[in-house]
Amino acid sequence: MRKNISVLGSTGSIGLQTLEVISSFPNKFSIIGLAAKDKLNVLAEQIKKFSPKIVSVDTEASAETLQKKLGKTQTVIYFGSEGLVKVSTHKDVDTVVVAVPGSAGIIPTFEAIKLRKNIALASKEVLVAAGDIIMKEAARKKISLVPIDSEHSGIAQCLKGEDLSKIKRVILPASGGPFLELPKEKLSRVTVSEALAHPNWRMGEKISVDSATLMNKGFEVIEAHHLFGLDYSKIDVVMHPQSIVHSFIEFVDGSFLAQMSAPDMRIPIQYALLDKERSQNKFELMNLAKIGTLSFAAWDKERFPCLEYAYMAGKRGGTLPAVLNAANSEAVRLFLEGRIKFTDIPVLVKQAMDKHFNTSEPTLEDILAADQWAKKEIITSVA
Ligand code: MG
Repeated sequence: MRKNISVLGSTGSIGLQTLEVISSFPNKFSIIGLAAKDKLNVLAEQIKKFSPKIVSVDTEASAETLQKKLGKTQTVIYFGSEGLVKVSTHKDVDTVVVAVPGSAGIIPTFEAIKLRKNIALASKEVLVAAGDIIMKEAARKKISLVPIDSEHSGIAQCLKGEDLSKIKRVILPASGGPFLELPKEKLSRVTVSEALAHPNWRMGEKISVDSATLMNKGFEVIEAHHLFGLDYSKIDVVMHPQSIVHSFIEFVDGSFLAQMSAPDMRIPIQYALLDKERSQNKFELMNLAKIGTLSFAAWDKERFPCLEYAYMAGKRGGTLPAVLNAANSEAVRLFLEGRIKFTDIPVLVKQAMDKHFNTSEPTLEDILAADQWAKKEIITSVA
């Protein structure tokens, strides 16, 4: 039976690679819904190719433009946050691929889980901001929530058939992005294009900056906590510039398992969409002799404070991780617009965290309110 899929964020980097994987298994998947922000030409091509029943774009104006581009079509076009929910909860959908940046993915993911849709989750913000609520609902509805992130896919692969209580530690490798070797005093002068030049992965702008600050790794630590029920004391990070090892599990007997592959997101996407089944594909193979050396090093707290703030927010819980996430996303936006320095990102995030009155055991409304509060806080602090 074909699996019916909606992709939220279909024109972003993960969305495009998801559609590539889906195209390479034409008998296994059908596209029911697509949602994108504003790359209307790309979306129009996708609609022609996959004939989804429903799509959503950011604004009403974009919806009208898209309608004109398509002319007569069977695809129904929605817009805004309601549109995202319509795409994620469409009655024919089995699995929702959530790959929208920022906190926009939280409500559509939650609503889809309530209707027993399975989730393939690429948007880190969903679990970072609302992990307790999302995981509780996923368990209650008995749906499968699989990670589309190389590290968490790697953990899941290493843990297949293993007893979770025998894990001593999970270690997430971090490439360190483009500034791994850059001395601390030079970090304040890096440009946007330098921050976007990730050495190993092809990714969107926001996540490229998050990789350069190590906030991305911090988010992954929080996600690993939620996905695998691990205490923060059991989650470690190690620098690994080649991005070949995607996760390590250390067991109580001192044995390590590692998952490796070429740095190609289509591999974890395929693994997630095929329900952890192995299937031949045409992606480029990893050549160990060509790679030559794999290296590892401790992470530098002085140069990459964002990772420490993520641990802090994760351990304290409540609404603080939502503040970490929202403050970071605003700060990254300001950096991309050339309005603040690269090194202002952690400073602004920490300021917002320090000012925030944390609510423990928050509702989804509390989390979204904290998200809004943190975004305003960042904007007013740089105005
Ligand atoms: Mg990752």
